[in-house]
Amino acid sequence: MPLEILEITSQSTMASPVTPRQRRSISKLIEPTRQLAKNSKKLFAQPLDDFTLNGETYSLPRFLFVGPPGGGDYLRIGIFAGVHGDETAGVDASLRFLQELHRTPDIARGYEIFVYPVCNPTGYEDNTRWTRSGKDLNREFWHDSRLPEVRQLEKELRGLHFQGIISLHADDTSDGLYGFARGSALTRYVLQPALQAAAAVLPINAQRIIDNFNAQNGIIHRSCYQGILGAPPEARPRPFEIVFETPQLADHDKQVEAHLLALKAVLSHYQTLISEAQNI
Ligand SMILES: [Zn+2]
Repeated sequence: MPLEILEITSQSTMASPVTPRQRRSISKLIEPTRQLAKNSKKLFAQPLDDFTLNGETYSLPRFLFVGPPGGGDYLRIGIFAGVHGDETAGVDASLRFLQELHRTPDIARGYEIFVYPVCNPTGYEDNTRWTRSGKDLNREFWHDSRLPEVRQLEKELRGLHFQGIISLHADDTSDGLYGFARGSALTRYVLQPALQAAAAVLPINAQRIIDNFNAQNGIIHRSCYQGILGAPPEARPRPFEIVFETPQLADHDKQVEAHLLALKAVLSHYQTLISEAQNI
């Protein structure tokens, strides 16, 4: 959603009165993946520490998938979904991706993949963009936010030194796929093939202006908004950072498929780029 619209509407539409009985269940959502991890030597369920929100206990789900060795050091990637609680295609895709990796581990050869499928648990439960306290988590990073979700994710981003960070989102004002290329200069060479791959199921947004930013072939080369989830400001070298957006009003299954195709393309192209760079 464009920032201007967001600022106008966020106060009036936030905190929808969802009763506890109407909430979506996160444990139900992640249960199949948790079951898969139980007997796996490659997939691990590692939820983050508990925290309390309005007297209720939450923890952010985290999964780790360790691919077969690739010959060198493992490349560490973080995939973050559900930062906006109503953008469920990314949430479902991140879990489907883990299940697919479990079936076909070779996709992740040489990779250690950390997946955070529900970064905004109260927003997911209530099916809202915002947290239950009315905050947009994607404006809260790296300026001393007191929100426990943000603090925990910042700790992960700071401690794990990801080489690549992928955020999965959906935009209800776009009729096509697009992405923000942030961080390392390499990012565009990873995002480009990801968009191409996903274009098999949904069109790329070809407009010159997307979300008020200049865009080219669905790629916005800007650091976008302040406070979005990403590498810590001091991280060097900068990881590649992709914010991948599907058109939120499109068919849900197609959006999930688009995210999956994009994620797989990122893995294969980043590895090629890294090995080419090492040969130069
Ligand atoms: Zn979003």
